[in-house]
Amino acid sequence: MSKPAILRPVAYKPPDMPAPKRKPAAAAPPAPAANTRASKLEKLGLRTDMDLVLHLPLRYEDETEIVAIRQAGMMGTSVAQVEGVVTACDIQYRPRRQLIVTIADDSGQLVMRFLNFYGSQTKQLAVGTRVRARGEIRHGFFGAEVVHPSYKVVLEGAPLPDVLTPVYPAGEGLSQIFLRKAIADAMHSIAWHDTLSPAQLAAQQLMPFESAVRLLHNPPPDVDEHALEDRSHPAWVRMKFDELLAQQLSLKRAQVARRAKNARALPVVGQLSAAFLATLPFTLTKAQQRVVAEISADLQASFPMQRLLQGDVGSGKTVVAALAAAQAIDSGYQAVLMAPTEILADQHFRKIAAWMEPLGVRVAWLTGSLKKKEKLAAQAMIESGEAQLVIGTHALIQDSVQFAKLGLVIVDEQHRFGVGQRLALRNKTVSENGGGDAVQNTAPVVPHQLMMSATPIPRTLAMTYYADLEISVIDELPPGRTPIVTRAVDQARRDEVIARVHAAVQDGRQAYWVCPLIEESEALQLQTATETYAMLAEALPDLRIGLVHGRLKQAEKQEVMDAFSAGACHVLVATTVIEVGVDVPNASLMVIEHAERFGLSQLHQLRGRVGRGSAASVCLLLYQSPLGYVAKQRLMTMRETTDGFEIARRDLEIRGPGEFLGARQSGQAMLRFADLATDQWLVDRARDLAQTLLQDPAPASQATVSAHLTRWLGGREDFLKV
Ligand code: ADP
Ligand code: MG
Repeated sequence: MSKPAILRPVAYKPPDMPAPKRKPAAAAPPAPAANTRASKLEKLGLRTDMDLVLHLPLRYEDETEIVAIRQAGMMGTSVAQVEGVVTACDIQYRPRRQLIVTIADDSGQLVMRFLNFYGSQTKQLAVGTRVRARGEIRHGFFGAEVVHPSYKVVLEGAPLPDVLTPVYPAGEGLSQIFLRKAIADAMHSIAWHDTLSPAQLAAQQLMPFESAVRLLHNPPPDVDEHALEDRSHPAWVRMKFDELLAQQLSLKRAQVARRAKNARALPVVGQLSAAFLATLPFTLTKAQQRVVAEISADLQASFPMQRLLQGDVGSGKTVVAALAAAQAIDSGYQAVLMAPTEILADQHFRKIAAWMEPLGVRVAWLTGSLKKKEKLAAQAMIESGEAQLVIGTHALIQDSVQFAKLGLVIVDEQHRFGVGQRLALRNKTVSENGGGDAVQNTAPVVPHQLMMSATPIPRTLAMTYYADLEISVIDELPPGRTPIVTRAVDQARRDEVIARVHAAVQDGRQAYWVCPLIEESEALQLQTATETYAMLAEALPDLRIGLVHGRLKQAEKQEVMDAFSAGACHVLVATTVIEVGVDVPNASLMVIEHAERFGLSQLHQLRGRVGRGSAASVCLLLYQSPLGYVAKQRLMTMRETTDGFEIARRDLEIRGPGEFLGARQSGQAMLRFADLATDQWLVDRARDLAQTLLQDPAPASQATVSAHLTRWLGGREDFLKV
């Protein structure tokens, strides 16, 4: 059998061909080429042989059949493989440089169009060459055509593969052929032991590890293609179960590890909390009281609290945070509150300082925009312990900031920070071991941590994604709020919207006008904001209009925000810098332009800027028709509900968990194979087994735990930490 010449990008290896022998371990130092390959593999997170073996196909291509060119694309399924002989091969320059190759079989001819190509391809595809091509074939005015097919040069009669061809996730510069070979090599050298015993496999009705992996890399001819595609095949189930088991094991171990760490117990001792509550102009809602009690109990333990406080926009998280800080201060420790933007940090500072300073608490303020001298003064206060409460932005994480005795770290809008940033803040205390506290062991003392978020993550999702997190929920809004009415309005009716803004201001109210999000260009976003501002200033000459965007200097931003808070400015034109936290109760109208470009949680956050006072509030979502399906779903959701948890649930439904958590979260996709939307039943089973294994002192169980964690997480267990 002659071996077909293999060209890029996708070719196959007959399944019965033996995998090449590995070079002995003590081979000569790797050539530079191997080095770059290794670094490309590294980019995909593939370091060890086991990593490669667990690099499973994204999908499969069916190259087992060849269709006549005339038939291709005619039967509904547009992707097809054809074979023909090259009859023409030319580079054309109009409308742009491209390689046009025509192949023909007995039934007709097909034009293959390559917009990116190498000069050498004209030689590979010289007239007379036989080619197998696969792609989305269309029959247009000029006959059958395909853009950028995958192809290979073959000899006449070259055998077709009789199994599906795996397609692997590949990085730049890594070909499928290379990956396939690297994976085949790795499969030869790994130890195939099953981390689960035959009894456990039987109990969980799981396929053995080795056969599952082999099947997924080289599916046999009679495999249920559909089950493979939708990942319901038992081989996939085994992979997902293993992955989830590793996650659950590591999660439970993190919980145990946290309880072994030291924190300063912060008992309720002084009068600060009580005095604070007595001076508040309102009483806490039941939900606030409940979460305050939960946090207070955690703070009294001598191991670190790690709690996420979820509460919808406007539910009153700030006061809860302030009460937690009061408890720390009362016990003689410092508390720090970090917010993602200067506007928000400033607002917290004003509000909390107004509450606490009259009670004798020293509050310090630290952000990037402080003058050098002010910064040094703030740092000195933090380091000496004179500042009992510190409020600021990312600037708090800088190396030069050291706390004298940090007891509690509070992170607002935690989803806007990376894991690394939150950990950095937690490690900002002068490391010592408790000094007289109830220290149980020699582990270092870490502060308690409270994270807050108004972008609720459904509980099940949070529990599976974050290693070790307690969750408190404020599920009630303070009384006296009137619900926000939300309408979607076609862009074409912008004049009516402008009239609405005018009327609201006539009524003594204020309005936000949020500019379209332009993700691809900050400059363009700025330009749009300036134009919107000019447009509104012209349309509403009798109103005072302000503009705030990310490029303004902090002092300028502050000036605009102050004017708006004081009511001196009627309409605030803003980019998404006002997305979080801004609290101006007199603002009752929110206009969001090009609402179709925003994500659900962002829309919800933006809308949360109104409905903070007692006036009936309105949110107008301006959209550009026609709307796509997802955008339509989003706007509909916004119209139907103002409940952040319901919105999060639908968001999850629309987008799926991977995207839902997004890059803003920890930045690591924790689950590659399991899908929480469909595999919850497996999560439950994995959790149970993890529990059983960890509680069983028998060496066999302990060995299972460590073998399983090594196989699935390797050195990556840290990513799961919060
Ligand atoms: P968020 O949870 O979005 O951070 P805030 O803490 O900013 O909400 O609170 C929103 C507004 O509600 C603030 O003006 C705050 O002072 C007020 N507030 C908080 N709790 C109560 C309450 N129990 N009763 C009345 N108003 C409250
Ligand atoms: Mg807030």
